[in-house]
Amino acid sequence: MERTADSKTSLRIAIQKSGRLTDKTIELLKGIGLRFDDYKRNLMVKCRNFDVELLLIRDDDIPEYVQDGVCDLGFVGANVTAETGADVSVLRGLDYGVCRLSLAARKDGDIQQLEDFEGKTIATSYPRLTRRFLENNNIANTNIVTISGAVEIAPRLEVADAICDLVSTGNTLKANGLEELEVILESETQLIQTNKKLSPGKKKLIEKFLIRMDSHQQAERSRYIMMNAPESAVPKIKEIIPSLNSPTVMPLADDHMVAIHTVIPIDQFWIVMERLKEEGATGIVILPIESMIL
Ligand code: ATP
Ligand code: ZN
Repeated sequence: MERTADSKTSLRIAIQKSGRLTDKTIELLKGIGLRFDDYKRNLMVKCRNFDVELLLIRDDDIPEYVQDGVCDLGFVGANVTAETGADVSVLRGLDYGVCRLSLAARKDGDIQQLEDFEGKTIATSYPRLTRRFLENNNIANTNIVTISGAVEIAPRLEVADAICDLVSTGNTLKANGLEELEVILESETQLIQTNKKLSPGKKKLIEKFLIRMDSHQQAERSRYIMMNAPESAVPKIKEIIPSLNSPTVMPLADDHMVAIHTVIPIDQFWIVMERLKEEGATGIVILPIESMIL
């Protein structure tokens, strides 16, 4: 499977072919300006305007492909990389595909706490992580059954006493009469990179790729805000706005009034908004930002 990583100067990026991460990853790649067509029908897709080719595969295979240098980068859940134990570097954590790997058992059953797992059968798609967690917690005798899908029905089928599975809302567990007892791993999608030696050309491409990603992420987390305010309120408003730089303040035709333009982090949006209104700001307009180069 090995390939000399500098065989040509085009980045090969592994992404999930079809699943929970696919749309968000494609959206992100398009968001940073990459253009490619027909990714749904092909295993390999060349980008039209950046030296990138996408390899569309099952998420389980991504960490190993990146480890072996078959792909230079990959977008995959931290849960999968941890389970495979692949030797790769994590470049960025991304805020989608957020979930946790948890032990769960039948509500009102005889497993109510961690100690109760001793001697029990646990169904999971994550045998390595499950075993390691239990051993680290001094639970040495368990029977771990590896199944690849629909883990949550194993207790009902009496294939297992408990499960260790991915949870996001918890609704699937609830629907199957299960209760989440222990979180063994918090997970999110990550951008991983091979630890194989990369050519200078590829290193440059990765740098460019990361600058685009960071600018895009920063822009997604920010909003452009415009408002009118009394000139006397400017010092207070400057304090309220957690601005990247000094805000732009422009005089208006109406005496003693100014227009203020700046960028704010989206998570502070409502707090900032309320306080601005208290200071007499009016006509507040919020705009999304395409990209931000800091
Ligand atoms: P593949 O066919 O590529 O092997 P899969 O069935 O293993 O796909 P998906 O269900 O598409 O995988 O999940 C992909 C990833 O999405 C998971 O590995 C995990 O990182 C993330 N994820 C987020 N929330 C959940 C959830 N509630 N259940 C399962 N995975 C989740
Ligand atoms: Zn998978």
